[in-house]
Amino acid sequence: MSWDCYCTICGGPFEICQFRTIRKAKPADSQHQATDATGDGRERAEEPSSAGEYDSDESDESEYGFGNDVYDEDIITADEARWTRTLSVLGLNPHAAGAKKAFVSGPGRYYDRSIVDVEVGDDPSYPYTEAYRFRCYSPDDDDDPVFPFHRPCYELLAQALTRTDGVETAVKQVGKDALYAAMQSIPHPIRRCLSLDYGFNAKAQEQWWRCMLGYEFVVAPLDCTPASSALLRATIASHSFQPAAVARDLAPKVRNDLFQKLPFEIFHMVLSLVGDNDAVLSLCRASWPVNAALRDNEPFWRSRIRTSLRCLFELHPLIADDHLPPGKSLKGLLLALDALTRPRKHMRGPFMGLANRRHVWSVCEQLVDVYLAASR
Ligand SMILES: [Zn+2]
Repeated sequence: MSWDCYCTICGGPFEICQFRTIRKAKPADSQHQATDATGDGRERAEEPSSAGEYDSDESDESEYGFGNDVYDEDIITADEARWTRTLSVLGLNPHAAGAKKAFVSGPGRYYDRSIVDVEVGDDPSYPYTEAYRFRCYSPDDDDDPVFPFHRPCYELLAQALTRTDGVETAVKQVGKDALYAAMQSIPHPIRRCLSLDYGFNAKAQEQWWRCMLGYEFVVAPLDCTPASSALLRATIASHSFQPAAVARDLAPKVRNDLFQKLPFEIFHMVLSLVGDNDAVLSLCRASWPVNAALRDNEPFWRSRIRTSLRCLFELHPLIADDHLPPGKSLKGLLLALDALTRPRKHMRGPFMGLANRRHVWSVCEQLVDVYLAASR
């Protein structure tokens, strides 16, 4: 029997992404003519039927006339998604000469049934002198498991674990032994990924990766492309985000609001625990004291951009004081940037990569505490 395993970090695939130009498809034969982007002729017998297995995605099938096991190549091409095919593994070599026992292999490819073929690479703790075949997550014998990942996902994870913006520095600072211990401590009962919340990718992790129409962004490269960088700069330079007109003072009408009684430090601590920017906005609408405290509070909104959009590293230097036009509403800017780069179904365009980065970042953040605990 054949099956796929998935990236330990993003939960995404190493193979089998199928692409098709949707609008040119003929409804009668489209489901069976989708291009196999792997090009390796790997057998994919007994493809699960899409009938009845989707809820909201059914509308796509009726709209386009065929099932969802395909990505729209007008939104993302096989070439753009090719980065997902290269992997490395994090493993443990108890016999390594030095104190550090965990290793990261060189690049490799997925084979089948959680088996990967990897090259040696440059890690001195790597146990072999030539390419080797590993079984991921659950080896057949007494060997320790290895964990496969895309290199860009590993680099992003390194930035999350070390709170470092620079990729090279972050990768050097990662404690691989601690990371290995962290990953090993997280259950992986289905032996194809860890028991983490992989967001949109969890929906596609079936026996084989399921390409789902409308979710093309999950295989978009994590880079900030020249187009997305230019659009970020244009958005920030735009004069669209002016401060809202001063509202009527409703303070005399507030009879009982817990936020009115909170000390300043506690008030801001509570706000820092609200992860979703829309929730902060809702709080501003619901509570006059919160509204009044945050309305013109530019330091708060600037800090909010840095924390809630932490993984958009290219953005942070652009919101420095000397880069912003005068009178800019940072609250409006935050909400616009959040909306533009938020991962969501049916998104397309230059921000797909940054949206996927935010998508992967949410998994990285789940690993941070486990890693820090393993580092002590
Ligand atoms: Zn990945």
